[in-house]
Amino acid sequence: MALLEIRDVVKRFGDFTAVNHVSLAVEAGEFFTLLGPSGCGKTTLLRMLAGFEQPDSGEIVLDGVNVAGVPPEKRPVHTVFQNYALFPHMTVAQNIAFPLKMANVSPEDIKTRVAEVLDDVRLTQFATRFPNELSGGQRQRVAIARALVNRPRLLLLDEPLSALDAKLREEMQIELINLQKEVGITFVYVTHDQGEALALSHRIAVMNKGEVAQLDAPETIYSYPKSRFVADFIGQCNLLDATIKSIGNDRMQVEIAGVGIAETLPVAGAQVGQSGCLTLRPEKIKLGASLPSDDADEVHFKGKVHDCLYLGDVTIYIVELDNGMLVETMLPNSAPGRAKFFDDNDLVELAWRFDAGHFI
Ligand code: ATP
Repeated sequence: MALLEIRDVVKRFGDFTAVNHVSLAVEAGEFFTLLGPSGCGKTTLLRMLAGFEQPDSGEIVLDGVNVAGVPPEKRPVHTVFQNYALFPHMTVAQNIAFPLKMANVSPEDIKTRVAEVLDDVRLTQFATRFPNELSGGQRQRVAIARALVNRPRLLLLDEPLSALDAKLREEMQIELINLQKEVGITFVYVTHDQGEALALSHRIAVMNKGEVAQLDAPETIYSYPKSRFVADFIGQCNLLDATIKSIGNDRMQVEIAGVGIAETLPVAGAQVGQSGCLTLRPEKIKLGASLPSDDADEVHFKGKVHDCLYLGDVTIYIVELDNGMLVETMLPNSAPGRAKFFDDNDLVELAWRFDAGHFI
């Protein structure tokens, strides 16, 4: 049985529905992320898990127990907030001991458990420091230690890294991944940052307008977004208008009007004549002056370079197909001193494998 089950949960504020019939399950030990744009309902869902909000309907089941009506402090759950909310006048050890004191745990037990948790988060030698004597990463670990000291089954993290600059955020992401592995506690993490969600999570629920738009592993969400919303929200994605021409067992053919036929993966429920688009990530597309065409799994199209964007590690090439459609591609600048392979108006060839993207 899953550690956490959210069953058909609805939450309204007046006549606005913030969370609309959400069902999902989180396994023990998972790093699970709720990802979506501002206002999609992810924080509201997290607050219902914590017990700060009550669902209007549906159930939240933790470890087999329906937690409806259980107040936040009685749930086997703890929340780490964005600003960590550490007490500035208390040492690291006192901050961590605080929830145990509130729960009237005996002084000896407090001592033992604080020492255990300090060891878990590798902060033993910082026990007597005050928060302002710590780095951002260390403060995060104190906040997590304080959240772990009551031995919650579930740790909820609400955008804990959003206030940090990009470099520190990356360091903290690595810290979080390692910490979650070491302590083995189930994390439910809220973020609007798709890169962060892809880097940290075992699985991601992408939310839009109070609903789960897609729930999958990061690689699946990235490579095979199920909707235009998910494709657009997560990274750069080409969406090429296409119409289904034929459907076989392991492939289907789609026509990109004015360009040609492309093979792609078959999708359940697809019908000949149906219009939609082919999703293709820029880095899945090969680009060259001319490309070998000996691979039956690839499709090839001609184009003309429309724009080049040098980004240091890679250069983005926007290529115009015969029908005027623009396709974003990229090449790594792996050769020393090399900034560009092509210039505007160069004639080029594009190729991609039939399973590089899919039809939505
Ligand atoms: P953000 O990343 O901006 O925090 P979010 O996805 O976490 O966004 P929520 O905070 O869950 O979004 O809010 C979802 C919607 O519900 C928003 O439109 C918000 O204005 C609304 N909302 C949240 N809490 C309340 C409340 N207490 N009263 C009225 N409306 C609310």
